[in-house]
Amino acid sequence: MVRRNVMTRRDAAKAFGLAALAGGFGFGAAPSAPAPGGAKVGAPVERKGDEIVVAGQLFHTTAPVVTWMDPGGYDAYRVERRFAPAAEASWEKSKGKDLKSPNRYGVRNRTLAPEVAERVRGGGWDLDTLRQVVDQFVIHFDVCGTSKRCFEVLHDHRGLSVHFMLDLDGTIYQTLDLKEAAWHATIANNRSIGIEIANMGAYPVNDPRGGGASVLDKWYKKGADGRTEITIPGGLADSGERNLSAVFRPSRDEPVVGDVQGKSLRQYDLTPAQYDSLTKLTATLCTVFPKITCDYPRDASGKLILKKLPDDVLKNYHGVLGHYHVQTNKVDPGPAFQWDTVIDGARKLMGR
Ligand SMILES: [Zn+2]
Repeated sequence: MVRRNVMTRRDAAKAFGLAALAGGFGFGAAPSAPAPGGAKVGAPVERKGDEIVVAGQLFHTTAPVVTWMDPGGYDAYRVERRFAPAAEASWEKSKGKDLKSPNRYGVRNRTLAPEVAERVRGGGWDLDTLRQVVDQFVIHFDVCGTSKRCFEVLHDHRGLSVHFMLDLDGTIYQTLDLKEAAWHATIANNRSIGIEIANMGAYPVNDPRGGGASVLDKWYKKGADGRTEITIPGGLADSGERNLSAVFRPSRDEPVVGDVQGKSLRQYDLTPAQYDSLTKLTATLCTVFPKITCDYPRDASGKLILKKLPDDVLKNYHGVLGHYHVQTNKVDPGPAFQWDTVIDGARKLMGR
């Protein structure tokens, strides 16, 4: 009894070999460890609603976060289809040409020693091991427009996953613990964290079929005040948005035209709330994962690289990057994405 009371958390961590407990929030303490000072049986752990889950531990982002365990969340661990009628949603009734395996994610085991891979394959990730593996944060736009629709496409139809979705109102949805290898960026899956930002995407300017004009016209309309509003086809009520009286606007009223992968593309910008949350999440991830450098891919003169990185450069790149830096057939997060807003803002939050 006395021993328990005088033991500090660091002592406890040492005694039980829990390095993560000493460095983290103590959320992932093994059942055999003594309770942190003052804890009472059955007392709830208070959450602020801004926490992300990393190897079972909680970290504050200061942005709104809904995890897969929370009401209104999106759970990528479940094998059934989320939005199919309940009677048709089971894996048994869902498997087929779209969904090839019940799990839409894997184990980050590509670079692990066999004994470590064996230890973590069924859970058992400690933060320090995860920090050795994760060194990239990949930014996507979802071409779905809302996080609800994004999860439906990934989980129910494509058999894919992503750690985070960022909705129009700045809500961050976490669908999996970051210990999992989400399936969002092919060769980068083992080492990266991914986020899908709700945005209708970028379209070729010189496209005889209209260059996505019909899609963009449907989603972005000028209001009476001359400013551009996002109009979700089908309406707000069924959109999954949390504030049904909200008006969402892109950060810039006019579409942005710019080159990605050598193609001239047109895209509307993210909402201010999305930039705010993404900046906070980027600062959080670059803090929790020291190998993720808080920067984007730059050329010799320090300017943003706007195409896929050469294989050897990508292999040695540790930081924030776009899906188009990973694959030649991708253009997200597109020409409108303001890299400096996110990276400069995140560095400021990190005190740099
Ligand atoms: Zn993508």
